[in-house]
Amino acid sequence: MTARFAGKVALVTGAGSGIGRASAMAFAREGAVVVVAGRRQEALDETVRLIADEGGKASAVTADVSQPEDVAQMVETAVERHGGLHVAHNNAGVFPRPAPVADIGLDVWDQAVAVNLTGIMLSLQYEIRYMREHGGGVIVNTASNIGYHGRRPGMAAYAATKAAVSTLTRVAALDHIKDGVRINAVSPGATDTSMSLRPGETEADRAARLATTVPLGRVGKKDEVVAAVLWLASDESGFVVGQDLVADGGVTS
Ligand code: NAP
Repeated sequence: MTARFAGKVALVTGAGSGIGRASAMAFAREGAVVVVAGRRQEALDETVRLIADEGGKASAVTADVSQPEDVAQMVETAVERHGGLHVAHNNAGVFPRPAPVADIGLDVWDQAVAVNLTGIMLSLQYEIRYMREHGGGVIVNTASNIGYHGRRPGMAAYAATKAAVSTLTRVAALDHIKDGVRINAVSPGATDTSMSLRPGETEADRAARLATTVPLGRVGKKDEVVAAVLWLASDESGFVVGQDLVADGGVTS
């Protein structure tokens, strides 16, 4: 195993479950000290424990990414505890209850914007402000293939916020590459976390649904998404700037 992140401090948001937890564990396996962030302390503590069990180093910080004070404190804590911040995976997100546009509640819309879009914007701001003064860094945002692929009725709040993450990523990358901060995004398709289960659906139901709707014929594995994240965060992708790498089994091909 190579240690592409030895000596680095990596911050992962939404790291108490799903893709974020898998990402945090993968960064730790490859040598990073990882700061895991999210709202639920217990879930974060479990991620820290899983990393420690594998011999890695991590610590938790609770933060609601839609709140500027929380995001400021999240970045400050990472730096104070571990001496710097070199890599960030801005991954926290919510999947609003599907509804046709005419029937989306403003509260549902506002929460999707606050977490999925403002949360990424705030995370970028505080991370970049630190990184550009301290030798640069690398950032990967989690968007979604649904941002690309509009043919999903009922998904307006999710699709619009995720499409905005892709666009924000491209512009932020152009704004800050000369500051030494390299920014890209990953857009997963349906991945094996609870977020891709429809209400009442079992994993077997999901497998049957995706067998016919995904060209590859199956759900994505968290580690397949995480492999793309780590590559984008590593020096191996050093010439890749402002891109959104879609990993979705061919759905948007
Ligand atoms: P998940 O297990 O529900 O993870 C979402 C994480 O975001 C949770 O750990 C949650 O933790 C955190 N979070 C939610 N609101 C937050 C807030 N306001 N502040 C801080 N953290 C917050 O689902 P997942 O599948 O791993 O999703 C991870 C990312 O991948 C999301 O951005 C999602 O949109 C994206 N994605 C997922 C799929 C898929 O099929 N699974 C496909 C495309 C894109 P707390 O509740 O503790 O805060």
